[in-house]
Amino acid sequence: MENKYRKDFPFFKAIDENNSKHNNGLIYFDTAATAQRPYLVLDAMSHFYATANANPLRGLYSLSERATFAYEDARSTVAKFINANDNSEIIFTRNTTESLNLIAYSYGVNNLKEGDEICISIMEHHSNIIPWQMVCGFTGAKLVYLECDKQTGEISDEEISKKITKKTKIVSCVHVSNVLGITNPIKKLSKAAHDVGAIMIVDGAQSSPHFKIDVQDLDADFFALSGHKLCGPMGIGALYGKKELLESMPPFLRGGEMIEYVTRETATWAEVPHKFEAGTVSAGDAVGMAAAMRYLNNVGFDKIQEHDLILTKRLMDGMKSIPHVKFVGSDDPSKRCGIVTFTIDGVHPHDIASLLSEEKIAIRAGHHCAQPLQQYLQINASARASLYFYNTEAEIDIFLDKLSQLRKWSGYKD
Ligand code: PMP
Repeated sequence: MENKYRKDFPFFKAIDENNSKHNNGLIYFDTAATAQRPYLVLDAMSHFYATANANPLRGLYSLSERATFAYEDARSTVAKFINANDNSEIIFTRNTTESLNLIAYSYGVNNLKEGDEICISIMEHHSNIIPWQMVCGFTGAKLVYLECDKQTGEISDEEISKKITKKTKIVSCVHVSNVLGITNPIKKLSKAAHDVGAIMIVDGAQSSPHFKIDVQDLDADFFALSGHKLCGPMGIGALYGKKELLESMPPFLRGGEMIEYVTRETATWAEVPHKFEAGTVSAGDAVGMAAAMRYLNNVGFDKIQEHDLILTKRLMDGMKSIPHVKFVGSDDPSKRCGIVTFTIDGVHPHDIASLLSEEKIAIRAGHHCAQPLQQYLQINASARASLYFYNTEAEIDIFLDKLSQLRKWSGYKD
């Protein structure tokens, strides 16, 4: 099956036309770590720097106004992309990690106290664990983990009602796990959180590239995403927050552009979102991320999901027939969002990735920044192939052929 999207990407176009000096023939199965970027994103960024490069939000001349317009237009694209109610509910950050730290430092440290609880899931990425450990350290609050079924990765209703209690002040959960690929029941979690007066935070790093996000439907108080996971540039992300919450919070970083008025002793803050965007902003990157979001909307999330499922099914069906391969998480392709994590008996995941690298296949191996999950599942490391709409069935077949030989290459007879 021809993949009509690959020509949109310089990376794949070069591979497919066999003229790539560096990546000749490479099979890229590491989109969960970072996606490739289409020409359109690179073009939008170079157009910004070629035609509108001035410090946005400051200058009174037309070039700076153009820069401001481009930056605020990007904000409006992000707001539409996740169905925020108002553009001012979108704060540009560097990435999901910074978005979550912003909430931890600004909301968490200032609103929690001893006896309170923060409830996260056992499958969180470190960037949705360590900020909360910090808040607990500062405030005396306790971190509570929602555990999942070890086979399927599912978090049960009983677990939700057992762990989210009157003591809970924050629930923060990954939408799609970067290890298990599972989509968590965010609407249920939001309801449970709100029923006890807690706020609901969603780590959308892995969900936002794969399906249409509606923060209002999820009833999330905060939603964090990274541009580079959804075909945008590295170094730009966004944090959605409900306006009344953002307005009630103190700034995270302090300096230029986030103020209303400064005296020798004190300062007052700009309105949201600018209160949370101190210093010169990453306008070119914001423009690039907005172009990526428009591109994904044009591809269509129904198409992306359809393609995810076809490829994941082919991959997992093939892997099921290779002896000694074990999935980490569900063996149901419709529950994986293109993220297939696995082990092979007797072959260390680092060796799996290195041997595949010699065969020009890029996958991730290690702890995937989710060590508490690995401890819970009692595995030291795992390998992960992650797919996107620009991957092909032919690539899957090559991957399966190489995977089936890995134990032999490692000295085993079967
Ligand atoms: N959460 C999840 C689920 C992730 O997969 C990642 C990236 N691997 C992050 C958070 C952190 O994203 P970033 O490095 O872009 O901040």
